[in-house]
Amino acid sequence: IPVRGFEGQVVGVLGLGRSGIATIRALQAGGAEVVVWDDGARAGELAAAEGVALRDFAKPGGCADLACLVTSPGIPHLYPAPHPAIAEALAAGVPVDNDIGLFFRSLAGADWAMMEQPPKVVAVTGSNGKSTTSALIAHVLREAGREVQLAGNIGRGVLDIDPPGDGGIVVLELSSYQTELARALTPDVGVFTNLSPDHLDRHGGPGGYFAAKRRLFAEGGPDRCVIGVDEVEGRFLANQLSVGPGDDRVIRVSSAGKLSGPGWLVFAKKGFLAEYRKGRQVGAIDLREISGLPGAHNHQNACAAYAVARSLGMGPRQIEAALKSFAGLPHRSQKIAEIAGVAYVNDSKATNVDSARQALRAFRKIRWICGGLEKEGGVAPLLSDAAEVRKAYVIGREAAHVAMQLKGIEVEICGDMGTAVARAHAEAEAGDTVLLAPACASFDQYDSFEKRGDDFVARVQALA
Ligand code: ADP
Repeated sequence: IPVRGFEGQVVGVLGLGRSGIATIRALQAGGAEVVVWDDGARAGELAAAEGVALRDFAKPGGCADLACLVTSPGIPHLYPAPHPAIAEALAAGVPVDNDIGLFFRSLAGADWAMMEQPPKVVAVTGSNGKSTTSALIAHVLREAGREVQLAGNIGRGVLDIDPPGDGGIVVLELSSYQTELARALTPDVGVFTNLSPDHLDRHGGPGGYFAAKRRLFAEGGPDRCVIGVDEVEGRFLANQLSVGPGDDRVIRVSSAGKLSGPGWLVFAKKGFLAEYRKGRQVGAIDLREISGLPGAHNHQNACAAYAVARSLGMGPRQIEAALKSFAGLPHRSQKIAEIAGVAYVNDSKATNVDSARQALRAFRKIRWICGGLEKEGGVAPLLSDAAEVRKAYVIGREAAHVAMQLKGIEVEICGDMGTAVARAHAEAEAGDTVLLAPACASFDQYDSFEKRGDDFVARVQALA
């Protein structure tokens, strides 16, 4: 997607990862002169490969002639402190933006406004469930025959996608870092899943974190807002966005029980999804039949995807059929095998206590593989949700420390994944679930949570 509006101007790109490279190409396609910087050793080589000049923006005057400095998601722009290049841009009064801002900016100018059915953008933000919800929305809309591209944190870089055709839909997963920085954020449908206090450090506390996510719904924001109202922040946001009682701008979504009121409501209760408008039930789905989405947390994701699909014109039966064919996302409560009546579930993405809690609530008779690099606060807070845990098999360098916190649960220190899988397999009885939900980061033993999950899957497959 060419980024317009910078013809003949100099634009800086900071960070040469996947999104940085896509940004360079999109800016060049729109006629900008691009200069780049990356702190890594391969910066010169990467710049040469793209045919752009390398420039240290952090040097005095390094940003002076820039029309814009475009930065990458991994680079701190505010807290704990801006990267020196960004600090220089801020001091020089140069606009700082990211690929998401450029994307919306190019839409506004767009080639596509002329189409018969201009493409629509659905943007998803929140603390947990963003990837699942985004993938689910894309899946459901594709099943309805729409042309859908998934981009942002999941799928392709947003400037890497193919220009959508008539009636096409772009589903964007956005982190709070991305929403905080983007200078333009104008989706047609905005989704806020939930708020939990993870990643607070980069936003200067809970207020800043919520504010970053709320920017998706700022002045002139989406025509349709799908808001998870299970926390007070979501209820507040929904309240502010409503234009009046019974309006259809806001769809309130909950997995914590029945919602009431005259508005547009979608909630999950006792395994059923219900949709109400103006106090009348207008749709229902049996979620218990949907195997790709286990647990109440996934019911929240299903409600959000349902709401988006409804607002784009799909019917309840059509959405139900699509939800049933969703296979789940890798590493997120994904059932990978059943061996002798024992289910094996990969939730390697549960890198913190909050997401591991969802997994522990979602399954029964759990043989729980946990541990790794502990997050602040440790794993002890999970004890209140461990009623279904039959035994914990602890991995990771800090296994002894993790095990010590799991008071009242039978625990075995296994150290590595191979041992943990073998021990859980040996002890499991039909009806049990062997669940990898580490509640810890993976970096003590793996490069990423994906690698950890892949290791688990390979070892389980070797059993079968
Ligand atoms: P994100 O993209 O926001 O990190 P994912 O969809 O990748 O979210 O899910 C990450 C983990 O968070 C999952 O493995 C699951 O344990 C948990 N999770 C998923 N959906 C929700 C939800 N709606 N509420 C709370 N936790 C969730």
